[in-house]
Amino acid sequence: MMKYSNTYIKLGDAFFQRIEPATVAEPKLQLWNKDLAASLQLSSDECQDKHKLAQVFSGNELADSAEPIALAYAGHQFGHFNPQLGDGRAHLLGEVIDNENIRRDIQLKGSGRTHFSRQGDGRCALGPAIREYIMSEAMYALGVPTSRCLAVVTTGENVIREVALPGAVVTRVASSHIRVGTFQYFAARGDIESLLSLADYTIARHYSDITDDTTERFVQLLERVIEKQIQLIVQWLRVGFIHGVMNTDNTAICGETIDFGPCAMMGVYDPATVFSSIDRNGRYAFGNQAKIAQWNMARFAEALLPLIDCVQDSAVKRVEPLIINFSTQYEQAFNTMLANKLGFAHPDDADIEHLKELLIIMHKNSLDYTQTFTQLTNSFEQADIADKLKATLGSWYDSWQAKLCAANIDFAAAKQLMQHHNPLLIPRNHHVEEVLDKCQESGNSDAAEHYLRFLRSPYNAQNGMAYFQQADAEADENYHTFCGT
Ligand code: AMP
Ligand code: MG
Repeated sequence: MMKYSNTYIKLGDAFFQRIEPATVAEPKLQLWNKDLAASLQLSSDECQDKHKLAQVFSGNELADSAEPIALAYAGHQFGHFNPQLGDGRAHLLGEVIDNENIRRDIQLKGSGRTHFSRQGDGRCALGPAIREYIMSEAMYALGVPTSRCLAVVTTGENVIREVALPGAVVTRVASSHIRVGTFQYFAARGDIESLLSLADYTIARHYSDITDDTTERFVQLLERVIEKQIQLIVQWLRVGFIHGVMNTDNTAICGETIDFGPCAMMGVYDPATVFSSIDRNGRYAFGNQAKIAQWNMARFAEALLPLIDCVQDSAVKRVEPLIINFSTQYEQAFNTMLANKLGFAHPDDADIEHLKELLIIMHKNSLDYTQTFTQLTNSFEQADIADKLKATLGSWYDSWQAKLCAANIDFAAAKQLMQHHNPLLIPRNHHVEEVLDKCQESGNSDAAEHYLRFLRSPYNAQNGMAYFQQADAEADENYHTFCGT
């Protein structure tokens, strides 16, 4: 079924443990991502046989070309360095080339213990598996760079959390699973040879337009990864996504969102929003995500130092400007994003200052982030909505429209731009939880499939969508998410 062509494994034994997924008692296919399967060039015939799919994507049946490995990596977790984390419950089966000619990792998660499991059981419960599927699919449709899920298979076995829960294996597809923490793993060991292989592998796989063959290529790698991180965070901020656990082991070098464990969506606009139960100091709060990405990039730069110059001070001098410049670069990207959300394609600095005032007003008045932008978009043609906004946003509303006029932007053009940058629908926490409860009660995934039908076109109004557009500020106030689910 899957024809893998594996390159990561050629990096050598220091990079992984060869280990097969654990077999499971009674695999049953719960969710299958047809679109993604088609992009991975799986034939539709092959995808008809649910029994076979369950066997393959539980890890019970391995393709001849699969070479399952658990990846080694380190990472800063909440600011503290752990020299060895690694895939404690995941198996990379291999890589496939998709229909855009991009190499993708196919990884099982919840597929059993590995050398890196520490105290963990190597398993995943069904709820979090479906949650990752829903959230990543929603993010993909929102236009945010992300890993995706191909399948969720129940195992027919229980996993023990606070209570016994049905176990599942989720198949994750990503451009790669190389993380900042992968570089840190080798840097911390002083294994410069492996660090060099990893950096060159990463350049070849993700940044192949870097052609310099001097040590300058590693500075360029850093520069490119920083750019990708900035684009990623700005997209998160555009849609109200809070990752929840931006540890360096969860920071993918390819710039995709990975690890959806404690993630959540912000309803009411508040930069201090945190849902993760273990993030007591708000390190990974909504409005802190750019700062943390910069911090993570500084850790990435540190890991690259030995490749850049054997004299550490000289190496530091070459990377420091890039880390410092992160703030300005991010600020520009953020400003453009915010301006686009408000109808300006090419804002000037005075416009930006005015647009940012909206965020302050939203915060002060506890306004819903997504709904406010939707209302602003609709207000051009709907006088009742415009009146309502004038009441809540005060003079800001009229001066916003005046600024659009002063910039010679007609309202139709502004509206169109805003429709592209402001989703009508995001995967709101209370709806996701409701859907997970329904799946659990019914023992099937119909509720998830129904919800996904809407989430897959978040910029287009659809019949029946209104229900899922509703905010629930009270539910959000009491909402908590968890790691290691
Ligand atoms: P995460 O918070 O999901 O990024 O996970 C951090 C680390 O804990 C990674 O090394 C995971 O592989 C590991 N881990 C999380 N849950 C489990 C589990 N149930 N069994 C084994 N390892 C786990
Ligand atoms: Mg992780």
